[in-house]
Amino acid sequence: MDREDLLLNIAEWRSRIGEASAKWGGCEICAVSKTVDPETINLAWDGGIRVLGENRVQELLGKLDALNPGYDIHLIGQLQTNKVKYIVDKVAMIQSVDREALAREISRRAEQAGVKMPVLVQVNIAREAQKAGVDEEELVPLLKLCGELPGLKVRGLMAIMPIADDPEDVRPYFRRMRDWFERLRDMNLNNIEMQTLSMGMSDDAIVAAQEGATMVRLGRALFGARHY
Ligand SMILES: *Cc1c(COP(=O)(O)O)cnc(C)c1O
Repeated sequence: MDREDLLLNIAEWRSRIGEASAKWGGCEICAVSKTVDPETINLAWDGGIRVLGENRVQELLGKLDALNPGYDIHLIGQLQTNKVKYIVDKVAMIQSVDREALAREISRRAEQAGVKMPVLVQVNIAREAQKAGVDEEELVPLLKLCGELPGLKVRGLMAIMPIADDPEDVRPYFRRMRDWFERLRDMNLNNIEMQTLSMGMSDDAIVAAQEGATMVRLGRALFGARHY
């Protein structure tokens, strides 16, 4: 993708997301840069992108040295505990915490590296069999545990919606996530700050922004179709 097209995409989506989220006070764009080459990713900086989303540890490590060091990189994909040590001093946030063992390993490695890792807890809001994320009834217990781990800073929630032909079909799930976000904020759990609600991707980001996402994760909308 050339620079002009990329900057146009970013400007267009920033405006659409801004409009959709206006009543909530705005919504940040995380540019999902998996499979995109570092040269292209660096062009997005000029469009005002400051947060990148990457899925795979291996791919991220391979690209890292070539990326503009000003970017905040968020790990958004399923994370194996044995990979945590490679990224704990390199990413600004891990959005995909979905189990106790992972939370404990992130905390342990963060402490060793002398950092506190900002994390989001991923919720399987539609209870899909194959999808990562905690079920709703496990959410408060996992958050409370995370709040006790010295190497973590819990900053909010993340969700991936079911694939739908019509994004209106998933609007109720976005609403449910926003309800959780606000309820948990009001609960004031120890060491838990509800600042970020990361939900919505290229196909459903407008609906997500309308329903109170504070961050949408856009891959194809910005960079075009992925060629694996
Ligand atoms: C790939 C991916 C995205 C972006 O998907 P698009 O449909 O390309 O916008 C967002 N979130 C996660 C967790 C992803 O894996």
